[in-house]
Amino acid sequence: MGVPVKSSQSLRSYYECSVSEVVQAINSHPDQGLTAAEAAQRLDQFGFNELASKPGKPAWLRFLLQFNQPLLYILLIAGAIKAFLGSWTNAIVIWGVTVINAIIGFIQESKAEGAIAALAKAVSTETTVVRDGQKLRLPSRELVPGDLVLLTSGDKVPADLRLVSVRNLQVDESALTGESVPVEKQDRPVPEGTPLAERVNMAYAGSFVTFGQGSGLVVATGSATEVGQISQSIEQRTNLSTPLTRKFDKFSRTLLYVILALATVTFAVGVSQGQSLAGMFEAAVALAVSAIPEGLPAVVTVTLAIGVNRMARRHAIVRKLPAVETLGSATVICSDKTGTLTENQMTVQAIYAGDRVYTVSGEGYSPDGEIRVDQQPIDLAHAPVLEECLIAGLLCNDSHLETTDGRWTVVGDPTEGALITAARKAGLDPVSVSQSQPRLDSIPFESEFQYMATLHELMRSGSDRASTAQVIYVKGSVESILQRCQQMLDNQGTPVPMQQARIEAEVEAMANQGLRVLAFAKKPVTASEFSRKPSLQHEDIADGLIFLGLQGMIDPPRAEAIAAVKACRSAGIQVKMITGDHVSTARAIAERMGLEKQGQVLAFSGQDLAQMDDRNLAQAIEDGVVFARVAPAQKLRLVEALQSKGEIVAMTGDGVNDAPALKQADIGVAMGGAGTDVAKEAADMLLTNDNFASIEAAVEEGRTVYRNLRKAIAFILPVNGGESMTILISALLARDLPILSLQVLWLNMVNSVTMTVPLAFEPKSSRVMQRPPRHPNEPLLSGKLLQRILAVSAFNWVLIFGMFEWIRQTTGDLALARTMAIQALVAARVVYLLSISQLGRSIVSRLVGRGQGMKDMTAMVLGLAGTIALQIVFSQWNLMNILFSTAPLTWNQWLICLIPALPMIVVATAVNYLDPPD
Ligand code: ADP
Ligand code: MG
Repeated sequence: MGVPVKSSQSLRSYYECSVSEVVQAINSHPDQGLTAAEAAQRLDQFGFNELASKPGKPAWLRFLLQFNQPLLYILLIAGAIKAFLGSWTNAIVIWGVTVINAIIGFIQESKAEGAIAALAKAVSTETTVVRDGQKLRLPSRELVPGDLVLLTSGDKVPADLRLVSVRNLQVDESALTGESVPVEKQDRPVPEGTPLAERVNMAYAGSFVTFGQGSGLVVATGSATEVGQISQSIEQRTNLSTPLTRKFDKFSRTLLYVILALATVTFAVGVSQGQSLAGMFEAAVALAVSAIPEGLPAVVTVTLAIGVNRMARRHAIVRKLPAVETLGSATVICSDKTGTLTENQMTVQAIYAGDRVYTVSGEGYSPDGEIRVDQQPIDLAHAPVLEECLIAGLLCNDSHLETTDGRWTVVGDPTEGALITAARKAGLDPVSVSQSQPRLDSIPFESEFQYMATLHELMRSGSDRASTAQVIYVKGSVESILQRCQQMLDNQGTPVPMQQARIEAEVEAMANQGLRVLAFAKKPVTASEFSRKPSLQHEDIADGLIFLGLQGMIDPPRAEAIAAVKACRSAGIQVKMITGDHVSTARAIAERMGLEKQGQVLAFSGQDLAQMDDRNLAQAIEDGVVFARVAPAQKLRLVEALQSKGEIVAMTGDGVNDAPALKQADIGVAMGGAGTDVAKEAADMLLTNDNFASIEAAVEEGRTVYRNLRKAIAFILPVNGGESMTILISALLARDLPILSLQVLWLNMVNSVTMTVPLAFEPKSSRVMQRPPRHPNEPLLSGKLLQRILAVSAFNWVLIFGMFEWIRQTTGDLALARTMAIQALVAARVVYLLSISQLGRSIVSRLVGRGQGMKDMTAMVLGLAGTIALQIVFSQWNLMNILFSTAPLTWNQWLICLIPALPMIVVATAVNYLDPPD
């Protein structure tokens, strides 16, 4: 579906038309936008502004793909050979087990994908539109053709727009054109046939605003947009692969070849020694099946998906799955100060104006409180400079306050909210102040410039229009304002030369208390300078400003963040503060948060860093904990320097210019609330509450995922090891096999899965943040893990072999001997599982009288109950006796099977001592 109305001159494209023609063609209004009713009607007509998602692979295909594993080929072929040899029961059991395995894999994979896809959907982008003349935020999918959209830097362009107004608007269209240099936009028409990349008056869906502001009318939404036409649909399927799963795939493939080779050799050796073909075939199949950890791939997927879910519950949404693993090995977290480490609840506490220092009482944004000087309440009539400083804070402001049930909250920037509250405490009314000095134009705040400026008309009663005076108010960081000021106001409001040192001493005093200091200035201008088109440019305030004063506001550290910093510290993770704020303010807050490294808070400013060569820089960054007045571009250098020192870096960011650093970081973290679309797009993870504590929580969960995967390996492989040793030796020695291939299938596919999946649900250990970060290059199968696996494998081998031989020699019943060997193996397995699980740990601590708080262990309890039930069925149900050649056991025989569990306690304790499970 295309545009609503064809252009009046028939078939001219929007970029060729003037703004008024476009307005007419799409029947909208260039500054009021659509009416709500019109918008609703168009939404019905054109549908949501989203690309149709291509249906993923059909379910049946995804099910069949479950068989697309080398191991399953072997099983299918083995089943076919059995059938060919006439053992139909065997064939059906083999095929049956593979089908069950595929069903389990299919269900788990679908669930995992569903969970991850749901998270991706939860992060919907919003857009600022004007409807009925009112600015509002809408989910981008609700845009309709004709809507008037406002763009500012950092926004993702939500639909195809014909730009109506621009102010230094630059757009990155690389997604569409491949051109990575941002394009400067205009609002004038361009000639017919202009290629897309040069249509400077259009902003296309999928591109990003990198600089400036603008507004535009929606001319196409959803699949009618240019990007929608390029790719009629987007691939919605979530990719479940991560470096770890790929390593796993490689590992299992290698393992498979080894096993196949071994099985072939066994077969050949056996046959050449004169054993029967059928017998050796059985042995070769049993060996292949026994050595391969069939349950492992499912556990990896489930563990990752559970980790992602747990992180989401703790306000960290993973956008790129590999981040789940990387998080576990993070060594440095570089965090924004304002809003992430601190509350972003600003309250002005000190004001410096007219060379006087005022204190401000009260908390939060409520106007209850007083401004005092020398312990006395002030009278604005006698403090003209204080008044003007407060007025500057009111007027040079894009935010407002709201009350709900007596609670005052800020809509917009907390820094600006604090200024409004301060002015109200002095009795100033924001509405009447802004009516008496209406705003003509503004330069919004951007981190890069560190200031904001507004142009106002001074309405003087009785004066004639021509001589109307105008004034520019500017607020911003001390550095950015002071360098532009030549004069300041004395106590009476008379301009006098700047007393730089005096002001700086005051700034230092405020900053050392952890106050965030904003400077205020004005510049009177004559109306004629701006009369033709009031438009404020950066050059207009390059110099000649008159300094009005300072306001210092407190932004208390978040209590959870302090706790999280402490946790990171015990986990061997450094936390560094990165901020656009003043060095002294940042240092004071860092000290309060316990960020010191080796007993001190070493702080650097962006300027310090800029003057260093690469070597000094890397050292400074390694040693420093506070980086203040950092320009966004320097964040990238910070990340690179840390990485060059071998650190694994998590870096937060929310601005447009943070994207390169977020991409470069091992884990880029964007703020879900305050972040721009650009930052969110570049990030690996989003924080839904913008809180540092959520990063720490994600690290905990990332470490837990890794621990749980390691446990799964530590649990599964020894059984494969024990089984294959048994089979290999028995086959080569031409003895009866202690376990048949079908029984191995049961153990590996049914028993292993029931027992291992609960490990994916293991709650995090209380010691998870008491260990140093894992080295990212540490192989999954580390030396210690390998030793553990070999030790338990050997025990399992002795167990199977011993039990089988003992029963066979005492009873001569092969089926009974095999059944009891299997049941004994499972009994020992239960003990081993408990020894590495949190459930086992809490049982032990109960027994020794140190009851820990019970964590959620439902999965483990269910898994164990299921295991026991299945094992009883396995030997007591006669159908199973037929299918799996098992024998029913008597009570006494059951008890005998429990005996090997006792030495397992000793073995498990010993290996836990050498290789702690968590
Ligand atoms: P941070 O939020 O980490 O302090 P910013 O880049 O947002 O970093 O801000 C940098 C500096 O710019 C602040 O320390 C403050 O002095 C100034 N500043 C912040 N917000 C505003 C604003 N809305 N208007 C003017 N100046 C601001
Ligand atoms: Mg900020």
